[in-house]
Amino acid sequence: MERPDDLIKISGSGIRFAAEVNRRSGTDLNACFHCRCCAGGCPFFEAMDYAPHGVIRLVQLGLKQEVLECSTIWLCVGCHTCSVMCPMAVDMSAIMDALRQMAMEQGISIAEPDILNFHKEVLNSVEHYGRTHKLEIMLRYKIRKRDWLSDMDVGIKMLLKRKLDLTPSRVRHIGEIRKLFAPEIKGEP
Ligand code: SF4
Ligand code: SF4
Repeated sequence: MERPDDLIKISGSGIRFAAEVNRRSGTDLNACFHCRCCAGGCPFFEAMDYAPHGVIRLVQLGLKQEVLECSTIWLCVGCHTCSVMCPMAVDMSAIMDALRQMAMEQGISIAEPDILNFHKEVLNSVEHYGRTHKLEIMLRYKIRKRDWLSDMDVGIKMLLKRKLDLTPSRVRHIGEIRKLFAPEIKGEP
């Protein structure tokens, strides 16, 4: 039988943090019973500092700073492989989305700034054209990073194989797409 001293005490702010992640992700974190199936299926597990279920554990324990500062929340690509394998259908991708959003809102030091910059350029392209213009995304990302030469060989190969359009094309009803980027929709002041 557990003695009171054996119990892990979670602070009130930690409980509120976990409840907020639950609310934003629309997923019941407490459904996770740490079977680790998600980690076994995740294609990016080796690169992560915490396994996907480890991120859930940090949230359950109210360890807000640790989880919002970790690399895993940025390395997750939202492929849903883990959710398909999860016996409790935990939506890991939605949890990672909620945590990324909270990390940005709270001015946390971003563990993987290059990934965040790439996300921003993809969204910038969608806002302007209603679809992605990959060449522009790559060029703008390179400008942000001030890194011109790495991956140049790959870029040239893609151009030669016509995998990169030189000019962007825009969807017909771009106004509808741009409404999605209005500050009030994005939750900006
Ligand atoms: S597969 Fe589902 S239940 Fe198992 S550890 Fe991962 S999130 Fe938790
Ligand atoms: S959604 Fe994220 S955590 Fe899940 S398998 Fe894909 S990359 Fe891994």
